[in-house]
Amino acid sequence: MEKLANPQKTIEMIQKNHFNFQKRYGQNFLIDAHVLEKIIAAAGITKDDFVLEIGPGIGTMTQYLAEAAREVTAVEIDRNLIPILHETLADYENVTVINEDILKVDIAALVKEKNGGRPIKVVGNLPYYITTPIVMGLLESAVPLESITVMVQKEVALRMQAGPGTKDYGALSLSVQYYAEPYLAANVPPNCFIPRPGVGSAVIRLTRREAPAVTVRDEKLMFSLIRASFGQRRKTLANGLKNSPEFQFTKGQIAEAFAAVGFDGNVRGETLTLSQFAALSDALSF
Ligand code: SAM
Repeated sequence: MEKLANPQKTIEMIQKNHFNFQKRYGQNFLIDAHVLEKIIAAAGITKDDFVLEIGPGIGTMTQYLAEAAREVTAVEIDRNLIPILHETLADYENVTVINEDILKVDIAALVKEKNGGRPIKVVGNLPYYITTPIVMGLLESAVPLESITVMVQKEVALRMQAGPGTKDYGALSLSVQYYAEPYLAANVPPNCFIPRPGVGSAVIRLTRREAPAVTVRDEKLMFSLIRASFGQRRKTLANGLKNSPEFQFTKGQIAEAFAAVGFDGNVRGETLTLSQFAALSDALSF
């Protein structure tokens, strides 16, 4: 079958099947072959790979994945897309479509069954309304994972890869970078999709680290400190921690911990690296 990655073919497929776009599922379908090639290249897909695709839509990216990978499983929530996928992917014997919410799929079991428990590559033009739960769910889980290469809102991609002292730096940057190394592979304008999204998009690859980027005694405490610190951007970190309902630290305890890790009393969270948050967390975990 001819590839779908152009506006004419996409519109033809949608009209023929009387498909109605569901806004609540974040449906913006890719219509640009060049962008699809970039995603496949950024993900580094080879014939050895098992790929999990999140949200195949009408199968535009799935066709490219099927040609590049050994095997693909594509998880699509919208049951109205399933008959279309069966048609557009009929030529590919290495593709399985599952009609399910990706947040409910037992991915660890899938990896075991399809890839003998070896790390997999995840690829997707993500539904933007659940980008963070999907990405953080995967990174925080014990699922064997090599990389996640996804289309997300440009603003979210910038936050994922931002470093200390920049306006995009925040809790998401630190959470993602604790588990993975980000690489921004491409910026993608709205005219590469049908319908056009109201925001710019970007392709980001997150390569999972073998071990988290820093060692910390109490991971939960560190992420609570990070959240408290960025939740009150205008305050100094010391004031932010003192006022946060999450903690019961005294002024003295905070001052002592700051002294132990060499922080100035006026330090702001947005200037701190992950290692510095880890050191502070260790100094505050009694
Ligand atoms: N991959 C296609 C493409 O690039 O043209 C479609 C991408 S579209 C941005 C997102 C897709 O994810 C839609 O097909 C939507 O129905 C599907 N989706 C939304 N929420 C989902 C969920 N929770 N689980 C699985 N798929 C979901």
